[in-house]
Amino acid sequence: MLRTCIGCRSRADKTTLVRIVAVRTSTTTVMTPDERGSLPGRGAHLHPDPRCLELARRRRAFGRALRVEGPIDTDLLDAIVGPAAH
Ligand SMILES: [Zn+2]
Repeated sequence: MLRTCIGCRSRADKTTLVRIVAVRTSTTTVMTPDERGSLPGRGAHLHPDPRCLELARRRRAFGRALRVEGPIDTDLLDAIVGPAAH
C-alpha cells in the first residue's frame, strides 16, 4: 500500500514509512511515532530520515496532515529518524 511521506512528498510503500499520530496533552500536541501500527486516529506517514523530518517541520506539515491547531511537539520524532547526516 502506498502512502505519501509528509516530508519529501514522495510516495512510498507503507512499510518503509513510520506512521505518526497526534497525542494531545494539556499544553501541546505531541507527534508520536506509531511503531507498532496500533495507535488509533488519523495518521501521517514519514520516512525515518532526518531530511524528511526537517522538511515536514519547515512546512508545518504535521498540523496540516493531522488537522491539529496550536503548538506541536515533534521531539519524539528525533528518536526514529536517527542522527542527522551532516
Ligand atoms: Zn520522505
